[in-house]
Amino acid sequence: NCGYVALIGRPNVGKSTLMNHLLGQKLSITSRKPQTTRHRILGIKTTAAGQAIFMDTPGMHQDEKKVLNRYLNKTADSTLLGVDVVVWLLDGLYWHEYDEKIFKKLERAGLPVILVVNKVDKIKEKDAVLRFFAEAQAKYPFRHILPVSALRNTNLDLLEQQIMAL
Ligand code: GDP
Ligand code: MG
Repeated sequence: NCGYVALIGRPNVGKSTLMNHLLGQKLSITSRKPQTTRHRILGIKTTAAGQAIFMDTPGMHQDEKKVLNRYLNKTADSTLLGVDVVVWLLDGLYWHEYDEKIFKKLERAGLPVILVVNKVDKIKEKDAVLRFFAEAQAKYPFRHILPVSALRNTNLDLLEQQIMAL
């Protein structure tokens, strides 16, 4: 299997951290500051199961009044046109109002989506994870929903398997 995989989500959810840890190298800049990733960053991972071309994207920004944000959103949106799989990251168990807009973009793109709840290392109440997953599955036909910690490498092997199998 071989395919293009887009990492999308709001700023600071951990897209670049995930990209680096999946690849095992520091390719993308990670930071606490939003707008760190300004361009599409490509990385290739080859395993026995196949090859994936990962595309780290700038976050999808709510405030389109700023020229930079409009540019970053365009870059993130156009990425959706040329990929096979989308990995959509959330920061913990939380939908931002702007995530509804991301839903619409994904529906239009009609691509298989894996929802990744990142930063689970910060979640104390583990039962809440399952409740949130049920809610998410009702909102959108996600192919998989998976809790991970990009920072601590939790569940990244499983995520990689799921990506390679799509
Ligand atoms: P991006 O804007 O979506 O690319 O986010 P970054 O990868 O630059 O990460 C934003 C911030 O979240 C950084 O300070 C990261 O260290 C932090 N971060 C990323 N993944 C995790 C995680 O799994 N757990 C925790 N606690 N922090 C994380
Ligand atoms: Mg980034």
